[in-house]
Order: sequence, then structure tokens, then C-alpha cells
Amino acid sequence: MSDSQEERPSITRQLAQKGLISPPLVGAARPGLCTDCGVSRMGAGQDRGKACGRACQFIAPDYPAMEKAVHGRAADPDLGDERFFGVIHSMIRARLDPPAEQAQWTGLTTALAAQLLEQGHVDAVLTMAPHPDDRWKPVPVMVTDPAALAHCRGMRMGYAPLLSLLEPAQAMGYRRLAVIGIPCQIYALRALEQTLGFERIHVIGTPCSDNTTTDAFHHFLSLLEPDPDRISYLEFRTDYRVELRFDDGRPPRTIPFLKLPLSNLPADFFPLTCKSCVDYTNRLADITVGYMGGDGDQWVIARNERGADLLALLGDRLVRRPLADKGRRKGAVTGFLHNTERAAGGLPLRRMPGWLRPIVAFLQPRLGPKGLEFARARLEMKAIETVLHLRRAHPARLKNMVPAHVWDLVAAYGLRPRPTEKKSIKSP
Ligand SMILES: Cc1cc2nc3c(=O)[nH]c(=O)nc-3n(C[C@H](O)[C@H](O)[C@H](O)COP(=O)(O)OP(=O)(O)OC[C@H]3O[C@@H](n4cnc5c(N)ncnc54)[C@H](O)[C@@H]3O)c2cc1C
Ligand code: SF4
Ligand code: SF4
Repeated sequence: MSDSQEERPSITRQLAQKGLISPPLVGAARPGLCTDCGVSRMGAGQDRGKACGRACQFIAPDYPAMEKAVHGRAADPDLGDERFFGVIHSMIRARLDPPAEQAQWTGLTTALAAQLLEQGHVDAVLTMAPHPDDRWKPVPVMVTDPAALAHCRGMRMGYAPLLSLLEPAQAMGYRRLAVIGIPCQIYALRALEQTLGFERIHVIGTPCSDNTTTDAFHHFLSLLEPDPDRISYLEFRTDYRVELRFDDGRPPRTIPFLKLPLSNLPADFFPLTCKSCVDYTNRLADITVGYMGGDGDQWVIARNERGADLLALLGDRLVRRPLADKGRRKGAVTGFLHNTERAAGGLPLRRMPGWLRPIVAFLQPRLGPKGLEFARARLEMKAIETVLHLRRAHPARLKNMVPAHVWDLVAAYGLRPRPTEKKSIKSP
């Protein structure tokens, strides 16, 4: 977040006109592996940012202990898909009917938060809104009017200090909150939750991968379209295509993954934080709302009773379909491992002659893994990335930063912790 002091009042005013509260930001992100979740901006004077050491996903996360504190038990690798997706109370494929306008998928995420406000379960929701001057740039906002959540729908690329809103929320007297966040934000929130003194925090998480800075994302958009400012929506769909929508009335366009201009992107297009992130599915949220395992619909994991109760608030606006689970991931994941090794820290581009690309792009959605198997494949790929990128860039960090659930996923592909990469102290 780099809005100047002069710009800030105008931004606050423009957001306020939409019913969104955006208090001024203090402090700064930390150097190194940091996604500016907001913790480094908390506290005052010498204490500012002191909590990062125990709250940060990139330092020494302890997922089993945190899962136990939040869900009552740690994920059980022998129980269904928990080895991949974390603690599962129930897992469904669903959509909101009718879908919400401007939503990233059908709007389940913001609809859940709106229900909490409407039914008086929370005083405020903390989430992201688009920057008034740049729709792709996230700005942290507090929302107390359920209707105003409509302005927060959709996905922004980039980082913004969501948790820096916790202290202003306290100061405004809010006692019961809902927080919508991505995994690195939610890990830090959970790590600090008990010390914050709120009566209740409902956590609605989305999965997250391949985030980058908003500036880098603008560069990517400029490679896709001659008039990138007209692109109003982008999503990496589970049918191996990127979907683009436009704000000038043009019909949407889809591009097969294999035809994306990835070779024109700089090697550091994805920052090391996101290439080494250890939580794809937001394991500590009460409910995770994504699309990865949804085969064209949304994919929802309630992780505890609170998450299940939250989902029930949507009543018959929640339309379910049976989860899909098809294909075999092993070949795709093994290929990804080799490409990532070859890329030596850059983007794992698939090597094949130009003439073959359209054929493989045609076959991929037909033969590739689908539904839950697609999600498992992406989880394994992310875990492989984490280990390989950290080994290259920060070998000393593996020991404390890589949790057992990540090692468990990469073991099937021959990656095991070396003696210096093993944690010396076991989690309770
Ligand atoms: C960078 C990024 C990468 C993602 N990658 C995946 C993925 O690989 N697989 C997957 O299943 N899902 C992923 N998601 C989640 C997905 O994009 C949808 O948000 C999710 O499916 C919910 O859709 P919806 O229609 O219910 O959300 P909506 O009702 O449209 O609400 C979206 C919510 O996300 C919040 N949000 C938007 N941008 C950000 C941001 N940059 N930081 C924090 N919060 C934000 C909004 O404020 C809003 O509250 C990602 C999200 C982000 C932000
Ligand atoms: S806790 Fe948040 S602010 Fe602190 S270093 Fe980690 S990501 Fe950055
Ligand atoms: S990929 Fe991981 S580190 Fe990067 S923004 Fe998403 S949750 Fe945070």
C-alpha cells in the first residue's frame, strides 16, 4: 500500500460513499518474506510489529497445534482427503442461486458475511475492496452494512494489510467480527486471536495461490490484451482456461493455460512468498470457499461446527451438486516437478513444440484430472514448489517453515526432508 498522505483522505472518502470504512494505515510491511498481512502495522512505538515472530506463516508455523485450538483436532492424514485439504467437517460442491453480480464465482463468500451482519451475529466484517483508482488493487475495509459487501465482491491481485484493521475495530467498540481472508492473513489472525480480546471472530477463508503484486499483475494483463484497462475479471478456471471479462460490453474471452504468454513474464513474476506458501486451502478458516475442487462450481469446506452453521444461514440459496472426482494426477504432477526443477527458480514453463500446444490444450480439459483430483494435483504442485523454491533461495528456512503436511504431500514424488531440513522440536 503506497497511497501518499495527500491521496489517502480522498480514497477514504470515496470508499465511505460506498459504505466502506478504511481507517488510515500506519507502519509498513517487513522486509524479506512478508505479504503485509497487517501484523507489522499493529502495536505502537517499539512494540509495533513485535507479534510477527509468533504470528507469521513464513517463520515457524505450527499447523497441528493451531488446528487443534481452532477446530478441536488436527488434520488426520488417514481420514478421507484431510491429508490434502486439512480438517474437514463437511465438503460440498455448491453455488449461490441466483449468483451475485460482480462476484468472483457466484458470491458465496460475501453472501456468508452478509448473512452474519444481517442476522446480527457480528458487528463488522473485515475484508478487501477495490482501490477507487485501480480495481485490481486491494484495500482493507470494515463493513457494517450488509449491502455494502456487494462492493467487495471479486478478486484483486496483490497484498494489503487486512489485519491492520483489528485495532481500529477494537477502538470502534466492535466485539464480534467476521474476517474474510487469504491463508497467510488467516494464519496470523488465528495466532493472535486469543490475545485480541474480541468476543467472537468468524473466519471465512478463500484458498489462495499464485498471488503477485498489483503492478506485476497489470503487466500480465498488458500481455493478454491490447487494452488491458478494459479487463474487469480474470480467473484461472478448472477447465485449464483463463477467463477474461470486459467492462465495454465485449463478450468474455477464454485462453487455454498452454497459450498464455508466460515466457514473456520475468522470472520473479511470482514473489517467493507465494512460491513458498505452505497453506493453499486456508486450513484455519471456519469455512473455506473456493473453486479448485468444484469442477465449474464453487468448492466449500466447513472445517468445524461454526463453519457448518454459517453455511446453513444461506438456506435454499445454496444449491448443491455431487462433487466430481475424475482422472489421475500423478503424470501431471510429476511433469510439474521436472519443469520446476528445470526452471531453477523461474516459471515452470512446459516445454513442447509450438505445433503441439493447441493439441495438448484441446486434450487437457478432456483428459486431465477433474474435481477433487484436480484440487489434489494443485495441492501437490504447490507443496513441490514450496520445497524446491525454499531449497534454492532460503535453505535454512525449511526446518522451521515447512510443516509436516507439506512434506507428506511431496513424499510421493521422492522429495524428503534432508537432515538439516527436519524440525528438531516436535509439535505438541
Ligand atoms: C490472489 C488470490 C488467489 C486465489 N487463488 C485461488 C485458487 O487457486 N483456488 C481457489 O479455489 N480459489 C482461489 N482464490 C479464491 C477465489 O478467487 C474466490 O475468491 C473464491 O472462490 C470465492 O469466490 P466468491 O464468488 O464466493 O467470492 P466473492 O463473493 O466475490 O468474494 C470474494 C472475497 O475475496 C476478497 N478478496 C479479493 N481479493 C483479495 C485479496 N487480494 N486479498 C484478500 N482478499 C481478497 C474480497 O474482498 C471478497 O470478500 C484466490 C483468491 C485470491 C485473492
Ligand atoms: S506476520 Fe504478516 S506482517 Fe508480519 S512478517 Fe508475516 S506476513 Fe509480514
Ligand atoms: S499464495 Fe500464500 S503467501 Fe501468497 S498471498 Fe496467497 S496465501 Fe499469501
